[in-house]
Amino acid sequence: MLVCLTKKRSEQSPQTLWRIVIYYNTNSKVNTNRTVSIFDTTLRDGEQTPGISFTPEQKIIIAHQLSDIGVDVIEAGFPASSDAEFETVKRVCAEEGIRPLICGLARSVKGDVDRCIEAGVDMVHVFIPTSKIQRTYTIKKSHAEVLAITREIVSYARSKCDNVMFSPMDATRTEPSELLEVCIAADEAGATIINIPDTVGVSTPSAMREIIMMIRKNVKCRIDVHCHNDFGLATANTIAAVEGGADQVQVTVNGIGERAGNAELAQTVMILQSICGFRTNITTEKLVETSRLISRFAQIPVPPMQPVVGENAFSHESGIHSQGVMANTGTFEPGIMTPEMVGHRRRLKLGKHVGKHAIRQMLEDVNIRPSETELDSIVAKIKDISGRGKKVTEFDLFEIADDITGSHYDKKMFILDDISIFTGSHAIPTSSVRASVHGEDKICSRTGVGPVDAAMKALLAIAPGKIQLKSYQVEAISGGTDALGCVTIEVEDEKGRIFDAGASNTDIVIASAEALVNALNSVYRYGGFET
Ligand SMILES: [Zn+2]
Repeated sequence: MLVCLTKKRSEQSPQTLWRIVIYYNTNSKVNTNRTVSIFDTTLRDGEQTPGISFTPEQKIIIAHQLSDIGVDVIEAGFPASSDAEFETVKRVCAEEGIRPLICGLARSVKGDVDRCIEAGVDMVHVFIPTSKIQRTYTIKKSHAEVLAITREIVSYARSKCDNVMFSPMDATRTEPSELLEVCIAADEAGATIINIPDTVGVSTPSAMREIIMMIRKNVKCRIDVHCHNDFGLATANTIAAVEGGADQVQVTVNGIGERAGNAELAQTVMILQSICGFRTNITTEKLVETSRLISRFAQIPVPPMQPVVGENAFSHESGIHSQGVMANTGTFEPGIMTPEMVGHRRRLKLGKHVGKHAIRQMLEDVNIRPSETELDSIVAKIKDISGRGKKVTEFDLFEIADDITGSHYDKKMFILDDISIFTGSHAIPTSSVRASVHGEDKICSRTGVGPVDAAMKALLAIAPGKIQLKSYQVEAISGGTDALGCVTIEVEDEKGRIFDAGASNTDIVIASAEALVNALNSVYRYGGFET
């Protein structure tokens, strides 16, 4: 395969973008002038992630979010698997305002297809194992029997539903001639789309492309692909399948799913659009918020280095990188994918690799203008603290800068005077706070799921403006019960800007409250809350 870079002006952006144009050894260029449909299986395969169980209410919220971002099909579940699953699929189908087609999964038995139809799905997805290992050890059927069942179940499903997807399960470990025969049988029986699953994630991009090209030449219906991430190739294999002629891709938000998960929605969409030049119907600006929603419901944090949606995806700490990005964001970012495109933010971060330019910029933003010598001292102090393994927040930077420049900033907007907590094994956690906000005394009480939650809610209730808590982390310094709890939090102001701050105390509720107060004062310092 030969990869060559050509410079081409993008129609959407005034910037000159580098687009990678891929020529294959056959010299046949991939036709990228088409729209790839996105089939999301977060609610079905994603929910099969060990330890994940979405409530019916969460599933409805997820379905609305997937509809809002523009996926084409939602696989809502496997109605025949339980009465509860049936009811949830039925609810998703009946829910107003959900635009994508709703698909239900079915084994190759008529009863499963009937349950999908009773639930009200728009698409039935029937599957049958086709690899020798799965045929022998799961359904105990010969290839000839599988062929006969495929013909029968696909035509039965088609008699009940206009959209029928057929999956030869474990396709990538199926004898190619047998796989082809099964796909042709499904196509002839009326399948509207054939899905090629890499069920145990053992394919490679070049193999996947070959398989799809082979099937493409022999069937009339559309082709879909479902890749697992056992070797970390799910997204790469999915892209290769599209290059081989697949019309639709199966993904999950944050790549959740069985074992190592599935191809990830945000990565797949951004690669298809930004690198390859295909179109999708996804509103990419909502990718980050969608990822956060699933992370919260699934209770699986997104790793900071996760491509596209991870916390660090557009963060810069090192001096050379920060300086480059401040001059031109394309220097140390892909350029063809910006934080704005995916609903993310670019952030300069404080740490031991931070450079003078970034620090100067951050201080100038809050009207602190240190001399060269003062700036050197501030940078040295930041590097010293973070070199000892401690996280430095923006609030710490302002305190250090005030200290070194001697410009004591006394306009603290929010001063916490008192905080009390009431909690217990049979009590509703409640917190009361008294604070001075813009010199005015305020008192507030709130209940919460725990004492920290109650305290945060009480403080946010008296904070001016609409401030949202974006992240909360607590760690213990030293191991005993007298350990110092270190809390780092991030808040977002009305303008979408993120501020971080931290505090330490042997009482983690007090540490949490102080961290929030510090963050609120940083928002104020950056010109938030001004009326
Ligand atoms: Zn799967």
